[in-house]
Amino acid sequence: MRQDGVDALVVAPSADFYYLSGYAAKPTERFTGFVLPAEGRPSLVTPAFELARLGQEFQDAVACRPWNETDDPLRLAAAVLRSDGGARRIGAGNQMWTEFLLGLQARMPDAAWVAAGEIVSSLRMVKDVEELRLLREAQGLAEEALRRLIAAGFEGKTERAVAAALMDARRAVGLDPTGSAGIIGSGPNGASPHHMNSDRIVRRGDAIVIDFGGGHHGYRADITRTLHVGPPSTEFRAVYETVHAANAAAFAATRPGATCESIDQAGRDVITKAGYGEYFIHRLGHGIGLEGHEPPYMIAGNRLALSVDMTFTDEPGIYLPGKFGVRIEDVVRVTDDGAERLTEFPRAITIVE
Ligand code: ZN
Ligand code: ZN
Repeated sequence: MRQDGVDALVVAPSADFYYLSGYAAKPTERFTGFVLPAEGRPSLVTPAFELARLGQEFQDAVACRPWNETDDPLRLAAAVLRSDGGARRIGAGNQMWTEFLLGLQARMPDAAWVAAGEIVSSLRMVKDVEELRLLREAQGLAEEALRRLIAAGFEGKTERAVAAALMDARRAVGLDPTGSAGIIGSGPNGASPHHMNSDRIVRRGDAIVIDFGGGHHGYRADITRTLHVGPPSTEFRAVYETVHAANAAAFAATRPGATCESIDQAGRDVITKAGYGEYFIHRLGHGIGLEGHEPPYMIAGNRLALSVDMTFTDEPGIYLPGKFGVRIEDVVRVTDDGAERLTEFPRAITIVE
């Protein structure tokens, strides 16, 4: 904050809010704001009736500023922001609702406003030991759910039925599905990277792109495997091996100091050289932590250099319209001298029933 000349942050319920405060508040129409000055004690502006949820330890560490139902919470927040000598330059959380930000700006016409996102993400991108443990566990649970799904078989089931079974498998292993059905892209539907699950029945000869995640104590899993029902065609094998090689190339390029765009390029080069460049239609990957998608993003134009203990996905894909799609997605951690995968599930072609 000092480097950026920011006097205080004000952050609404979001992953940034949870990361800074440890309080899992949900965004609602009632304003809640965590105010973090560059120096001194943080404050929480909160509906008064939520105080009961906050333990003594929290209230000792954070100055709680409750507001009652008929009060103006934004006036209170503005007063808190002004209190320590008057914050002149304020970082507003990236996921604060417009009505709150505009209301704060109207009550503090002399303040300068910047987005707090980069300040907080510079911290969030680098995971500590506890965060890495939870990410690894989350990924392990997702892999167990995928093993159970494969054991139950696919042929003759609709995509929606497979998604329902995947929902059950995630709950059974203790992974919170976080309201997301996951992507079950069978046959030609796999050529749409974010396919909406349909009533198409999975048949022998289909490829199936399965992409899902879940939550584990707030931290996210994300995995994609492309399976094949029965023996695959020569074309499928060629495309699959190209994606597999691109995944491996991006992994091999990962080390501290490498730029995010160079990781995308390493994977993309393999696919382009194999002649499928125009069918790799998304970035190579995204950061993962408290959010399923968060910085850093592995994409052309992102010159950010990787640091030790950043975590992101390595997920190249090839999507052939009307035929099939292939994507292989792992979660990767940057180590002192390279990278390690938090995803252990096999990457070789998996034939299923
Ligand atoms: Zn995914
Ligand atoms: Zn992903």
